[in-house]
Amino acid sequence: MVVILKKDTNKEQLHQFSEEMGALGLEAHVIVGQAHTIVGLVGDTSHIEIDRLRDMDIVESVQRIQEPFKKANRRFREEDTVITLDNGTKIGGGNFHVIAGPCSVESEEQIVGVAQAVKAAGATLLRGGVFKPRTSPYAFQGLHAKGMRYLLAAKEATGLPIVTEIMDAAHLPLFEEVDVIQVGARNMQNFELLKHLGQVNKPILLKRGLANTLQELLMSAEYIMASGNERVILCERGIRTFETYTRNTLDLSAVPVLKRLSHLPVIVDPSHATGDAGLVRPMALAATAAGADGLIIEVHNDPAHALCDGSQSLTPDAFGRLMAMVSAIRPYAEKYGAPGEGGTAQ
Ligand code: PEP
Ligand code: MN
Repeated sequence: MVVILKKDTNKEQLHQFSEEMGALGLEAHVIVGQAHTIVGLVGDTSHIEIDRLRDMDIVESVQRIQEPFKKANRRFREEDTVITLDNGTKIGGGNFHVIAGPCSVESEEQIVGVAQAVKAAGATLLRGGVFKPRTSPYAFQGLHAKGMRYLLAAKEATGLPIVTEIMDAAHLPLFEEVDVIQVGARNMQNFELLKHLGQVNKPILLKRGLANTLQELLMSAEYIMASGNERVILCERGIRTFETYTRNTLDLSAVPVLKRLSHLPVIVDPSHATGDAGLVRPMALAATAAGADGLIIEVHNDPAHALCDGSQSLTPDAFGRLMAMVSAIRPYAEKYGAPGEGGTAQ
């Protein structure tokens, strides 16, 4: 439920209102926006009489939120969420970023070299997996703690903030110096992991599951947010369909749909979506034009010999050419990439 307060409401009245709601078992989530002060009421609001709220002196209007996600809902927060990293990098709200790097960290030399190359091409965050969720238990599983040391060496060498995937909350002590923790597609509905990450003071990059709806993605974001961590970045990375030519099917309409429904930043992963290096460029450009807040792209120094996902990895040179094209179309996306007029009122 969202309560929009009258413009002249003062701090004391706001505090008293929050206390009253607390006494009814609801958490009052106050958002002071440019136009209004909005109080989102989280909890079981079924017993609340809307008319009693509407009659209160400080209340301008009350709306029930039909969607099951509350904190992630655009109705709770009209303005885009902007996530600030420790080095000052801002993600969302018009700040566009490209996260690039190999699927897996393979050696110190490899990750430092790729980090330098993607930085020179304009990437602002470095990716690299050290815990790899593989379909086969016999496939390369990542370098774990050793890989994390190499990834940190690349952060140190380049100053790029790092993004890496977690598969088990028990590994959290290893993630101390990680800037953004990734939850991969296979763990999007690992609710215990999400609840743990809700208690971590780091941004979470949450990927859409292989066969999950956008509402389910938003509900997973809600798990993290409801547990206390509101710094969530959503990622569309393709879903399973009947099409077999591509590894997955990139659902690009996810970008404007998520932007309509939620205030959280939305990025796109054209690498896992297509599974094919030759398809990464057109899909990266399309995602940029569609208004994504960023891209996550796999780049490998030697794709033919990569230990994981080589076929979808760009060389540093190809990545550099792609970055120039992304930069060329970004101004148009800023102007025209927002969800269009009309359509389903959300
Ligand atoms: C990855 O980013 O390397 C990865 C495993 O991605 P996803 O979870 O989207 O498959
Ligand atoms: Mn990968």
